Amino acid sequence: MWSKIKFILLLVLLIITGVFVYFKIQVMGDSNSYFNQHARYKLAKSGFWRWSLGLKNVGDARADFLGNTGPIVIEWFKPVSEDLDDSVLQDFSKAVQTYTGRSTRLVFGGGVNDSTVPLSILNSFQLKGQIQKPVNGSILIIYFTKDYLPRQSAELSTTFKENGIIISLDAHKQFLEGYIQNINQYLGSSLLHEFGHQIGLNHSSDPDCIMSLHAGISGRPLEFYGRTAPADFCAKEQVTIQQLKTEYRN
Ligand SMILES: [Zn+2]
Repeated sequence: MWSKIKFILLLVLLIITGVFVYFKIQVMGDSNSYFNQHARYKLAKSGFWRWSLGLKNVGDARADFLGNTGPIVIEWFKPVSEDLDDSVLQDFSKAVQTYTGRSTRLVFGGGVNDSTVPLSILNSFQLKGQIQKPVNGSILIIYFTKDYLPRQSAELSTTFKENGIIISLDAHKQFLEGYIQNINQYLGSSLLHEFGHQIGLNHSSDPDCIMSLHAGISGRPLEFYGRTAPADFCAKEQVTIQQLKTEYRN
């Protein structure tokens, strides 16, 4: 009798280990795989799987942003020497409110060092944010830098892990040479593009969509071609977000 129970327990343990190893291999594999594009985000709904599989990458907080109902606290930082137009953040905050259907709260985290930021230190920095997560709430960190490293030459901003957006102000200024008056529009567009990544949206080939490489064509800003950076998600993206919201609210 006992040996039978032991055998069954061992079998169950083996199956659990097998499932875990299988998931872990998938999680570490190709980010475009079916698993990582679909099943992963569903697993990330569960605190247990988030924790045990270490789901801390871009998009893994999709369930938080689209599934929770409490406030989203947007904590932002900027280099001490830089002035930033508050309206960029206000507009972004409103857009996050619109697309998640949740209230948002902007919190200035403070001025930070003017030097180039290695992305590797942001992990520990995030922990210093010290914001208490509201009940059913989420935290979104926006880190304006003079510049960050590593950064690809044409890149203006990036997404760092599950709830961080990193913006290079130097890259925006350099890129917009001759069109610097439009910097706020570009910063707004970059913020929304990165938020799209936070909720797990992929790049789009439609130039009117914010998830396209919205900043420019052939290394020149869109203004050079008589256009402006998109200020909002395109209709297609709005439909996708709406569908995801319905899925994660249930
Ligand atoms: Zn992108």
